[in-house]
Amino acid sequence: MDHLRSPGDRNRGLALIGVAVVLAIAVGALLRWQLWSSGVPSLADGDLEGVFDPQQLAADDRYRRGLQIMAWVGVPLAPLVAIGIAATSPRWRARVLGWARGRVVLAGGLLGAGLALLTALVSLPLNAGRYAWIRDHGVGRQPVDSWLLDRLEGTVIQMVIFAAAVAVIVGSIHYLPRGWWVALGALVAVLAVGLTLLSPVVFSPRFEETTPLNDAALEADIRELADRAGVEVDDIVVSDASRRTRALNARVEGLGATQRVVLFDTLVEGAPREELRWVVAHELAHAKETHVVKGVAWVAALAIPLALLVFGATGAIAGFGRADGEGTRAEASLTRAAVALAVITTLTAISAPLSNTVSRAYEAEADWIALKLTADPKAAIDFRVRTRERRRGSVDPPALTQFWFGSHPTSSQRVGLAQRFDRELRGP
Ligand SMILES: [Zn+2]
Repeated sequence: MDHLRSPGDRNRGLALIGVAVVLAIAVGALLRWQLWSSGVPSLADGDLEGVFDPQQLAADDRYRRGLQIMAWVGVPLAPLVAIGIAATSPRWRARVLGWARGRVVLAGGLLGAGLALLTALVSLPLNAGRYAWIRDHGVGRQPVDSWLLDRLEGTVIQMVIFAAAVAVIVGSIHYLPRGWWVALGALVAVLAVGLTLLSPVVFSPRFEETTPLNDAALEADIRELADRAGVEVDDIVVSDASRRTRALNARVEGLGATQRVVLFDTLVEGAPREELRWVVAHELAHAKETHVVKGVAWVAALAIPLALLVFGATGAIAGFGRADGEGTRAEASLTRAAVALAVITTLTAISAPLSNTVSRAYEAEADWIALKLTADPKAAIDFRVRTRERRRGSVDPPALTQFWFGSHPTSSQRVGLAQRFDRELRGP
Protein backbone atom coordinates (compact mmCIF):
# COMPACT_ATOMS: atom_id res chain seq x y z
CA MET A 1 0.00 0.00 0.00
CA ASP A 2 3.07 2.19 0.14
CA HIS A 3 2.63 3.32 -3.46
CA LEU A 4 -0.67 5.01 -2.49
CA ARG A 5 0.87 7.01 0.31
CA SER A 6 2.59 10.37 -0.11
CA PRO A 7 5.17 11.72 2.31
CA GLY A 8 3.34 13.27 5.25
CA ASP A 9 0.25 11.06 4.94
CA ARG A 10 1.23 9.05 7.99
CA ASN A 11 1.62 12.10 10.24
CA ARG A 12 -1.55 13.64 8.88
CA GLY A 13 -3.41 10.40 9.59
CA LEU A 14 -2.06 10.21 13.13
CA ALA A 15 -3.06 13.83 13.78
CA LEU A 16 -6.60 13.10 12.57
CA ILE A 17 -6.76 10.03 14.81
CA GLY A 18 -5.78 12.25 17.74
CA VAL A 19 -8.52 14.78 16.96
CA ALA A 20 -11.05 11.95 16.55
CA VAL A 21 -10.16 10.37 19.89
CA VAL A 22 -10.52 13.71 21.71
CA LEU A 23 -13.90 14.27 19.99
CA ALA A 24 -15.09 10.75 20.84
CA ILE A 25 -14.14 11.22 24.49
CA ALA A 26 -15.99 14.56 24.60
CA VAL A 27 -19.12 13.05 23.01
CA GLY A 28 -18.86 10.00 25.30
CA ALA A 29 -18.65 12.24 28.38
CA LEU A 30 -21.70 14.20 27.23
CA LEU A 31 -23.69 11.00 26.73
CA ARG A 32 -22.50 9.62 30.05
CA TRP A 33 -23.88 12.75 31.67
CA GLN A 34 -27.19 12.84 29.76
CA LEU A 35 -28.09 9.23 29.00
CA TRP A 36 -26.71 7.29 31.96
CA SER A 37 -28.90 5.44 34.40
CA SER A 38 -29.57 7.31 37.62
CA GLY A 39 -30.59 6.52 41.15
CA VAL A 40 -29.23 2.97 40.99
CA PRO A 41 -27.00 1.91 43.88
CA SER A 42 -23.48 0.99 42.75
CA LEU A 43 -23.09 -2.71 42.07
CA ALA A 44 -21.65 -4.97 44.75
CA ASP A 45 -21.48 -8.71 45.12
CA GLY A 46 -24.36 -10.26 47.00
CA ASP A 47 -24.23 -12.44 50.07
CA LEU A 48 -24.48 -15.79 48.30
CA GLU A 49 -24.57 -17.96 51.41
CA GLY A 50 -27.51 -20.32 50.91
CA VAL A 51 -28.51 -18.77 47.55
CA PHE A 52 -26.74 -20.92 44.95
CA ASP A 53 -25.90 -24.60 45.39
CA PRO A 54 -22.06 -24.75 45.64
CA GLN A 55 -21.97 -28.34 44.35
CA GLN A 56 -23.92 -27.41 41.23
CA LEU A 57 -21.69 -24.40 40.67
CA ALA A 58 -18.60 -26.61 40.83
CA ALA A 59 -20.17 -29.17 38.47
CA ASP A 60 -20.92 -26.46 35.87
CA ASP A 61 -17.42 -25.05 36.04
CA ARG A 62 -16.05 -26.97 33.05
CA TYR A 63 -19.03 -26.05 30.86
CA ARG A 64 -18.64 -22.37 31.69
CA ARG A 65 -14.92 -22.37 31.09
CA GLY A 66 -15.45 -23.96 27.67
CA LEU A 67 -17.86 -21.19 26.71
CA GLN A 68 -15.49 -18.49 27.96
CA ILE A 69 -12.56 -19.90 25.98
CA MET A 70 -14.68 -20.05 22.82
CA ALA A 71 -15.82 -16.46 23.38
CA TRP A 72 -12.21 -15.24 23.61
CA VAL A 73 -11.15 -17.28 20.57
CA GLY A 74 -13.96 -15.61 18.59
CA VAL A 75 -12.85 -12.03 19.32
CA PRO A 76 -10.02 -11.70 16.73
CA LEU A 77 -11.69 -13.75 13.94
CA ALA A 78 -13.60 -10.99 12.12
CA PRO A 79 -10.72 -8.45 12.40
CA LEU A 80 -8.25 -11.05 11.08
CA VAL A 81 -10.43 -11.82 8.06
CA ALA A 82 -10.81 -8.11 7.27
CA ILE A 83 -7.09 -7.43 7.76
CA GLY A 84 -6.28 -10.40 5.49
CA ILE A 85 -8.57 -9.05 2.78
CA ALA A 86 -7.02 -5.57 3.04
CA ALA A 87 -3.42 -6.85 3.01
CA THR A 88 -4.02 -8.92 -0.13
CA SER A 89 -5.96 -6.25 -2.01
CA PRO A 90 -3.29 -5.81 -4.77
CA ARG A 91 -3.99 -9.42 -5.71
CA TRP A 92 -7.79 -9.33 -5.98
CA ARG A 93 -8.83 -5.76 -6.73
CA ALA A 94 -8.30 -5.85 -10.52
CA ARG A 95 -10.26 -9.10 -10.79
CA VAL A 96 -13.15 -7.81 -8.65
CA LEU A 97 -13.28 -4.64 -10.75
CA GLY A 98 -13.36 -6.87 -13.83
CA TRP A 99 -16.36 -8.82 -12.47
CA ALA A 100 -18.07 -5.50 -11.83
CA ARG A 101 -17.17 -4.34 -15.39
CA GLY A 102 -15.19 -1.45 -13.97
CA ARG A 103 -18.05 -0.04 -11.91
CA VAL A 104 -16.43 0.81 -8.62
CA VAL A 105 -19.62 0.91 -6.50
CA LEU A 106 -20.65 -2.53 -7.74
CA ALA A 107 -17.15 -3.80 -6.95
CA GLY A 108 -17.70 -2.43 -3.43
CA GLY A 109 -20.89 -4.49 -3.17
CA LEU A 110 -18.93 -7.61 -4.14
CA LEU A 111 -16.25 -6.77 -1.58
CA GLY A 112 -18.89 -6.38 1.14
CA ALA A 113 -20.65 -9.64 0.29
CA GLY A 114 -17.29 -11.41 0.13
CA LEU A 115 -16.22 -10.07 3.52
CA ALA A 116 -19.49 -11.23 5.12
CA LEU A 117 -19.25 -14.67 3.49
CA LEU A 118 -15.59 -15.21 4.42
CA THR A 119 -16.21 -14.11 8.01
CA ALA A 120 -19.15 -16.54 8.27
CA LEU A 121 -17.04 -19.39 6.84
CA VAL A 122 -14.07 -18.70 9.12
CA SER A 123 -16.36 -18.46 12.16
CA LEU A 124 -18.36 -21.56 11.26
CA PRO A 125 -16.16 -24.15 13.05
CA LEU A 126 -16.20 -22.09 16.24
CA ASN A 127 -19.95 -21.46 16.01
CA ALA A 128 -20.58 -25.15 15.37
CA GLY A 129 -18.37 -26.00 18.35
CA ARG A 130 -20.30 -23.59 20.57
CA TYR A 131 -23.62 -24.98 19.32
CA ALA A 132 -22.52 -28.58 20.01
CA TRP A 133 -21.10 -27.65 23.42
CA ILE A 134 -24.33 -25.93 24.51
CA ARG A 135 -26.48 -28.74 23.15
CA ASP A 136 -24.37 -31.53 24.62
CA HIS A 137 -24.65 -29.92 28.03
CA GLY A 138 -28.42 -29.82 27.75
CA VAL A 139 -28.67 -26.02 27.69
CA GLY A 140 -29.69 -25.55 24.03
CA ARG A 141 -32.15 -27.73 22.22
CA GLN A 142 -32.32 -26.48 18.63
CA PRO A 143 -32.09 -29.36 16.07
CA VAL A 144 -29.06 -29.36 13.73
CA ASP A 145 -31.01 -28.70 10.53
CA SER A 146 -32.84 -25.72 11.99
CA TRP A 147 -29.56 -24.37 13.43
CA LEU A 148 -27.89 -24.66 10.02
CA LEU A 149 -30.85 -22.99 8.34
CA ASP A 150 -30.63 -20.11 10.82
CA ARG A 151 -26.89 -19.73 10.10
CA LEU A 152 -27.55 -19.78 6.35
CA GLU A 153 -30.33 -17.22 6.62
CA GLY A 154 -28.26 -15.04 8.93
CA THR A 155 -25.30 -15.18 6.53
CA VAL A 156 -27.42 -14.23 3.52
CA ILE A 157 -28.98 -11.29 5.42
CA GLN A 158 -25.49 -10.20 6.52
CA MET A 159 -24.16 -10.46 2.95
CA VAL A 160 -26.96 -8.22 1.67
CA ILE A 161 -26.43 -5.63 4.43
CA PHE A 162 -22.63 -5.69 4.00
CA ALA A 163 -22.91 -5.45 0.21
CA ALA A 164 -25.09 -2.34 0.48
CA ALA A 165 -22.97 -0.75 3.21
CA VAL A 166 -19.61 -1.39 1.51
CA ALA A 167 -20.98 -0.19 -1.83
CA VAL A 168 -21.78 3.12 -0.12
CA ILE A 169 -18.34 3.20 1.55
CA VAL A 170 -16.45 2.52 -1.71
CA GLY A 171 -18.59 5.03 -3.58
CA SER A 172 -17.93 7.69 -0.91
CA ILE A 173 -14.18 7.01 -0.92
CA HIS A 174 -14.09 7.16 -4.70
CA TYR A 175 -16.20 10.26 -5.26
CA LEU A 176 -15.55 12.15 -1.99
CA PRO A 177 -11.88 11.40 -1.31
CA ARG A 178 -11.68 14.11 1.37
CA GLY A 179 -15.18 13.94 2.84
CA TRP A 180 -16.06 10.28 2.82
CA TRP A 181 -15.85 9.96 6.56
CA VAL A 182 -18.94 12.19 6.89
CA ALA A 183 -20.84 9.77 4.62
CA LEU A 184 -19.50 6.83 6.66
CA GLY A 185 -20.64 8.41 9.94
CA ALA A 186 -24.08 9.11 8.49
CA LEU A 187 -24.29 5.53 7.18
CA VAL A 188 -23.48 4.04 10.61
CA ALA A 189 -26.05 6.30 12.30
CA VAL A 190 -28.75 5.47 9.73
CA LEU A 191 -27.99 1.74 9.92
CA ALA A 192 -28.10 1.75 13.72
CA VAL A 193 -31.44 3.53 13.82
CA GLY A 194 -32.90 1.62 10.86
CA LEU A 195 -31.90 -1.87 12.00
CA THR A 196 -33.19 -1.21 15.52
CA LEU A 197 -36.54 0.04 14.25
CA LEU A 198 -36.81 -2.76 11.71
CA SER A 199 -35.53 -5.69 13.74
CA PRO A 200 -38.87 -6.59 15.40
CA VAL A 201 -40.57 -6.34 12.01
CA VAL A 202 -37.98 -8.06 9.82
CA PHE A 203 -36.17 -10.53 12.05
CA SER A 204 -38.24 -11.89 14.92
CA PRO A 205 -41.37 -13.06 13.05
CA ARG A 206 -39.18 -15.21 10.78
CA PHE A 207 -37.83 -17.18 13.70
CA GLU A 208 -40.83 -17.54 15.99
CA GLU A 209 -44.60 -17.83 16.15
CA THR A 210 -46.73 -16.08 18.73
CA THR A 211 -50.11 -16.99 20.16
CA PRO A 212 -52.43 -14.96 22.43
CA LEU A 213 -52.01 -15.39 26.19
CA ASN A 214 -54.99 -17.43 27.36
CA ASP A 215 -54.81 -16.52 31.02
CA ALA A 216 -57.04 -13.63 32.07
CA ALA A 217 -55.61 -13.39 35.60
CA LEU A 218 -52.00 -13.24 34.36
CA GLU A 219 -52.95 -10.72 31.69
CA ALA A 220 -54.61 -8.46 34.28
CA ASP A 221 -51.53 -8.80 36.49
CA ILE A 222 -49.19 -7.76 33.67
CA ARG A 223 -51.43 -4.86 32.64
CA GLU A 224 -51.45 -3.63 36.23
CA LEU A 225 -47.63 -3.71 36.30
CA ALA A 226 -47.46 -1.87 32.98
CA ASP A 227 -49.89 0.77 34.25
CA ARG A 228 -47.78 1.42 37.31
CA ALA A 229 -44.61 1.48 35.19
CA GLY A 230 -46.30 4.03 32.92
CA VAL A 231 -45.82 1.84 29.85
CA GLU A 232 -48.59 1.52 27.29
CA VAL A 233 -49.17 -2.11 26.33
CA ASP A 234 -51.40 -3.02 23.42
CA ASP A 235 -51.04 -6.79 23.30
CA ILE A 236 -49.61 -9.63 25.39
CA VAL A 237 -48.55 -12.75 23.47
CA VAL A 238 -46.62 -15.99 24.03
CA SER A 239 -43.83 -17.03 21.63
CA ASP A 240 -42.75 -20.60 20.81
CA ALA A 241 -39.21 -19.95 22.08
CA SER A 242 -39.00 -23.50 23.50
CA ARG A 243 -38.26 -24.74 19.98
CA ARG A 244 -34.83 -23.15 20.20
CA THR A 245 -33.93 -22.45 23.78
CA ARG A 246 -34.56 -23.32 27.40
CA ALA A 247 -33.92 -19.69 28.40
CA LEU A 248 -36.68 -18.08 30.50
CA ASN A 249 -37.29 -14.65 29.08
CA ALA A 250 -39.69 -12.00 27.85
CA ARG A 251 -39.40 -8.76 25.93
CA VAL A 252 -41.30 -5.56 25.26
CA GLU A 253 -41.20 -4.55 21.61
CA GLY A 254 -42.57 -1.84 19.38
CA LEU A 255 -43.05 1.87 19.99
CA GLY A 256 -45.63 3.93 21.85
CA ALA A 257 -49.19 2.65 21.77
CA THR A 258 -48.32 -0.36 19.61
CA GLN A 259 -45.99 -1.85 22.22
CA ARG A 260 -46.54 -5.48 23.07
CA VAL A 261 -45.21 -7.85 25.68
CA VAL A 262 -43.82 -11.14 24.30
CA LEU A 263 -43.51 -13.91 26.90
CA PHE A 264 -41.38 -16.95 26.08
CA ASP A 265 -43.49 -20.10 26.44
CA THR A 266 -40.61 -21.46 28.54
CA LEU A 267 -41.24 -18.67 31.06
CA VAL A 268 -45.01 -19.13 31.18
CA GLU A 269 -44.65 -22.87 31.71
CA GLY A 270 -41.38 -23.04 33.61
CA ALA A 271 -41.44 -20.30 36.24
CA PRO A 272 -43.73 -19.51 39.18
CA ARG A 273 -46.04 -16.53 38.82
CA GLU A 274 -43.97 -14.24 41.11
CA GLU A 275 -40.83 -14.79 39.04
CA LEU A 276 -42.69 -14.26 35.78
CA ARG A 277 -43.93 -10.95 37.18
CA TRP A 278 -40.37 -10.02 38.02
CA VAL A 279 -39.11 -10.76 34.50
CA VAL A 280 -41.94 -8.76 32.93
CA ALA A 281 -41.32 -5.88 35.35
CA HIS A 282 -37.64 -5.85 34.30
CA GLU A 283 -38.62 -5.68 30.62
CA LEU A 284 -41.23 -2.97 31.31
CA ALA A 285 -38.48 -0.99 33.06
CA HIS A 286 -36.36 -1.14 29.89
CA ALA A 287 -39.34 0.17 27.92
CA LYS A 288 -40.12 2.90 30.46
CA GLU A 289 -36.52 4.16 30.42
CA THR A 290 -36.36 3.81 26.59
CA HIS A 291 -33.06 1.93 26.86
CA VAL A 292 -33.20 0.78 23.24
CA VAL A 293 -33.53 4.35 22.00
CA LYS A 294 -30.73 5.48 24.32
CA GLY A 295 -28.50 2.66 23.09
CA VAL A 296 -29.04 3.74 19.49
CA ALA A 297 -28.36 7.36 20.48
CA TRP A 298 -24.91 6.31 21.78
CA VAL A 299 -24.07 4.65 18.47
CA ALA A 300 -25.43 7.51 16.36
CA ALA A 301 -23.66 10.22 18.39
CA LEU A 302 -20.31 8.44 18.34
CA ALA A 303 -20.58 7.59 14.63
CA ILE A 304 -19.04 10.85 13.33
CA PRO A 305 -15.94 10.95 15.61
CA LEU A 306 -15.35 7.24 15.00
CA ALA A 307 -15.72 7.74 11.23
CA LEU A 308 -13.07 10.47 11.45
CA LEU A 309 -10.84 8.00 13.29
CA VAL A 310 -11.36 5.44 10.49
CA PHE A 311 -10.57 8.14 7.91
CA GLY A 312 -7.34 9.09 9.69
CA ALA A 313 -6.20 5.48 10.15
CA THR A 314 -7.03 4.60 6.53
CA GLY A 315 -5.06 7.60 5.28
CA ALA A 316 -2.11 6.79 7.51
CA ILE A 317 -2.01 3.26 6.06
CA ALA A 318 -3.13 3.74 2.44
CA GLY A 319 -2.73 7.46 1.76
CA PHE A 320 -5.11 10.37 1.22
CA GLY A 321 -4.26 11.66 -2.26
CA ARG A 322 -5.67 10.80 -5.67
CA ALA A 323 -4.01 7.96 -7.57
CA ASP A 324 -3.33 8.62 -11.28
CA GLY A 325 -5.37 7.11 -14.10
CA GLU A 326 -9.01 5.96 -14.04
CA GLY A 327 -8.30 2.22 -13.55
CA THR A 328 -5.68 2.95 -10.90
CA ARG A 329 -8.06 5.33 -9.13
CA ALA A 330 -10.76 2.68 -8.86
CA GLU A 331 -8.19 0.17 -7.60
CA ALA A 332 -6.95 2.67 -5.03
CA SER A 333 -10.52 3.26 -3.83
CA LEU A 334 -11.07 -0.48 -3.40
CA THR A 335 -7.85 -0.88 -1.45
CA ARG A 336 -8.69 2.07 0.79
CA ALA A 337 -12.17 0.68 1.39
CA ALA A 338 -10.66 -2.69 2.36
CA VAL A 339 -8.29 -0.92 4.77
CA ALA A 340 -11.18 1.12 6.19
CA LEU A 341 -13.17 -2.12 6.72
CA ALA A 342 -10.23 -3.68 8.55
CA VAL A 343 -10.07 -0.63 10.82
CA ILE A 344 -13.86 -0.65 11.37
CA THR A 345 -13.93 -4.37 12.15
CA THR A 346 -11.06 -4.03 14.61
CA LEU A 347 -12.69 -1.01 16.27
CA THR A 348 -15.97 -2.90 16.53
CA ALA A 349 -14.24 -5.86 18.19
CA ILE A 350 -12.33 -3.80 20.73
CA SER A 351 -15.28 -1.53 21.53
CA ALA A 352 -17.29 -4.46 22.92
CA PRO A 353 -16.28 -3.66 26.52
CA LEU A 354 -17.45 -0.06 26.10
CA SER A 355 -20.87 -0.96 24.75
CA ASN A 356 -21.22 -3.68 27.39
CA THR A 357 -20.40 -1.16 30.11
CA VAL A 358 -23.32 0.96 28.91
CA SER A 359 -25.53 -2.13 28.64
CA ARG A 360 -24.68 -3.26 32.19
CA ALA A 361 -25.68 0.16 33.55
CA TYR A 362 -29.07 -0.06 31.83
CA GLU A 363 -29.60 -3.65 33.00
CA ALA A 364 -28.85 -2.65 36.58
CA GLU A 365 -31.31 0.22 36.23
CA ALA A 366 -33.99 -2.14 34.86
CA ASP A 367 -33.40 -4.48 37.83
CA TRP A 368 -33.67 -1.64 40.32
CA ILE A 369 -36.90 -0.29 38.79
CA ALA A 370 -38.34 -3.83 38.61
CA LEU A 371 -37.57 -4.30 42.30
CA LYS A 372 -39.47 -1.09 43.08
CA LEU A 373 -42.39 -2.15 40.83
CA THR A 374 -42.78 -5.62 42.31
CA ALA A 375 -41.43 -5.01 45.83
CA ASP A 376 -40.51 -8.69 45.62
CA PRO A 377 -36.74 -9.14 46.01
CA LYS A 378 -37.26 -12.81 46.84
CA ALA A 379 -38.71 -13.40 43.35
CA ALA A 380 -35.70 -11.59 41.84
CA ILE A 381 -33.26 -13.82 43.70
CA ASP A 382 -35.24 -17.04 43.11
CA PHE A 383 -35.31 -16.21 39.40
CA ARG A 384 -31.52 -15.72 39.32
CA VAL A 385 -31.11 -19.17 40.86
CA ARG A 386 -33.53 -20.72 38.35
CA THR A 387 -31.94 -19.17 35.24
CA ARG A 388 -28.45 -19.98 36.45
CA GLU A 389 -29.46 -23.62 36.80
CA ARG A 390 -30.98 -23.63 33.32
CA ARG A 391 -28.08 -21.91 31.61
CA ARG A 392 -25.50 -23.41 33.93
CA GLY A 393 -24.06 -19.91 33.92
CA SER A 394 -21.46 -18.13 35.99
CA VAL A 395 -22.37 -16.46 39.23
CA ASP A 396 -19.15 -14.50 39.35
CA PRO A 397 -17.10 -14.82 36.11
CA PRO A 398 -13.46 -13.67 35.88
CA ALA A 399 -13.27 -9.87 35.97
CA LEU A 400 -11.78 -9.50 32.47
CA THR A 401 -14.35 -11.87 30.93
CA GLN A 402 -17.16 -9.94 32.63
CA PHE A 403 -15.68 -6.58 31.55
CA TRP A 404 -15.39 -7.68 27.92
CA PHE A 405 -18.45 -9.87 27.35
CA GLY A 406 -20.82 -9.09 30.22
CA SER A 407 -23.90 -7.37 28.85
CA HIS A 408 -25.57 -7.74 32.26
CA PRO A 409 -24.25 -7.37 35.81
CA THR A 410 -23.06 -10.72 37.22
CA SER A 411 -25.58 -12.95 38.99
CA SER A 412 -23.78 -12.18 42.22
CA GLN A 413 -24.21 -8.43 41.66
CA ARG A 414 -27.87 -8.85 40.69
CA VAL A 415 -28.53 -10.85 43.84
CA GLY A 416 -26.66 -8.12 45.75
CA LEU A 417 -28.96 -5.46 44.28
CA ALA A 418 -32.07 -7.43 45.32
CA GLN A 419 -30.65 -7.92 48.83
CA ARG A 420 -29.92 -4.22 49.07
CA PHE A 421 -33.51 -3.44 48.08
CA ASP A 422 -34.72 -5.96 50.67
CA ARG A 423 -32.74 -4.14 53.38
CA GLU A 424 -34.16 -0.76 52.30
CA LEU A 425 -37.68 -2.23 52.23
CA ARG A 426 -37.39 -3.47 55.78
CA GLY A 427 -35.95 -0.14 56.89
CA PRO A 428 -33.26 0.42 59.49
ZN1 LIG B 1 -32.67 -6.57 30.64
